[in-house]
Amino acid sequence: MAFIETRGNDGKKPKEVTFSEAILNPSASFGGLYVPKNFPTLDSSFFDEFKNKGYKELAKAILSSYKIDINDSVIDEALKRYDSFDDSKNPAPLARVEENLSICELWHGPTRAFKDMALQPFGAILSKLAEQKKENYLILAATSGDTGPAALSTFEDKPYIKVACLYPHGGTSDVQRLQMVTMKGKNLKVIGINGDFDDAQNTLKSLLASSEFKETLQAKNIKLSAANSVNFGRIIFQIIYHIHSYLELLREGKIKKGEEVVLVIPSGNFGNALGAYYAKKMGLPVRKILIASNNNNVLTELINEGKYDLRDKKLVNTTSPAMDILKSSNVERILFDLFGSSRTKELMEKLEKENHYELTQDELKTIREIFDATYSNNEEVANAIREYAQKGYIMDTHTATCLKSYKQLSDKKLQTVIYSTAEWTKFSPVVYNAVNNKNEKLHDKEALEKISQKFKIAIPKSIKELFESKITHDCLIDKQDITKEIVKFI
Ligand SMILES: *Cc1c(COP(=O)(O)O)cnc(C)c1O
Repeated sequence: MAFIETRGNDGKKPKEVTFSEAILNPSASFGGLYVPKNFPTLDSSFFDEFKNKGYKELAKAILSSYKIDINDSVIDEALKRYDSFDDSKNPAPLARVEENLSICELWHGPTRAFKDMALQPFGAILSKLAEQKKENYLILAATSGDTGPAALSTFEDKPYIKVACLYPHGGTSDVQRLQMVTMKGKNLKVIGINGDFDDAQNTLKSLLASSEFKETLQAKNIKLSAANSVNFGRIIFQIIYHIHSYLELLREGKIKKGEEVVLVIPSGNFGNALGAYYAKKMGLPVRKILIASNNNNVLTELINEGKYDLRDKKLVNTTSPAMDILKSSNVERILFDLFGSSRTKELMEKLEKENHYELTQDELKTIREIFDATYSNNEEVANAIREYAQKGYIMDTHTATCLKSYKQLSDKKLQTVIYSTAEWTKFSPVVYNAVNNKNEKLHDKEALEKISQKFKIAIPKSIKELFESKITHDCLIDKQDITKEIVKFI
């Protein structure tokens, strides 16, 4: 299947590329993104067939319906990564919390956040491609806490790949930091910077734009790629679990084939929600996709009012840091799908130049037929965690932003799936305060143990071990020294 560009073609890049080209070199003309030219459809027999099959078989069928230019054996190898999840047969189980409400847990992988669902198999494919081509790649990542560990884990000890990961020192949880700085692979570099996530991300952007850095890479014969969700190689794996959760509801007998469901998605860069949108486009019976945000509520404004306006906005730190984002990259793919490439180019350029754009009333109406949105502040997040803890379900802060959307849902008769994007163990101090209605300053280790005892839930071995593991990365530097440090590493 061919991939085309969201902002149209500049006459220099090829008009169409293959899947492997799009994932190895994810930047398209005019700063746009790659998207599939056509979409496969799920017909009625698909649901009968896959109702009785496992996750990996489903994944394989979806990947082959996109006709990607990746060998079957490489795909099988990539899907084997799900064997390291808690339940290799079902990496994304559904927990039922109410009669009409399930929570699809996307965090049963090695780093306990939903990033593993896509980054694990994606990493296997990308490193295999690099090996086949005998090309060296450098993956640069700036992380607020979840992408970093997941990217490091998926590429650890892979030949032809090096990963340099920047994180804001003091800006992540203890668990997230330890997941990075105890990583053993020789091909990995973890750099703490004195600054916040914006500093990390901005430094990375200026590094990517620097011609001196590009020349250094060229001289060493190293190519750059990206592991964030602008890379379609991640998106494709994020379509699959939305179809899987529908099949799970069918298996449980909660819905009949063809019955519509509602999906609620805690969103930042909009990769997870885009996966749901593509699944709906392929024919998954989804009535609405509800977008949940925190106080960085750009997506709520876009979907409710049709405006993307950053002029009076500053990033605020919330208790759901993976969603502390103002420029949500994958919205662009929705704009393209609904309004075409010239309109997308116009809107994205306006956002880049003037820091805002507005949709027409008709465009807003089109978006609202598919999406709805709400946001929760820290207090509402804590209240939701406490309420469900009392009912016996412990959730993390990101997942908890979804409960307000669910409560506001006018038609509760439909089966609803909330996507849980991190295990509570990654954010245990906040979860501890929420369930106890307190405001204490605990370290992760103490909070983990207290919650585990109180609610009799296990802490996974991979998290417990972190506190005993040797720190292998102790690099902590100022912004201006990052280039030097990365050049030294490669
Ligand atoms: C990355 C992340 C999100 C946001 O997902 P997007 O696909 O970027 O919208 C939400 N929650 C957690 C825990 C995450 O790690």
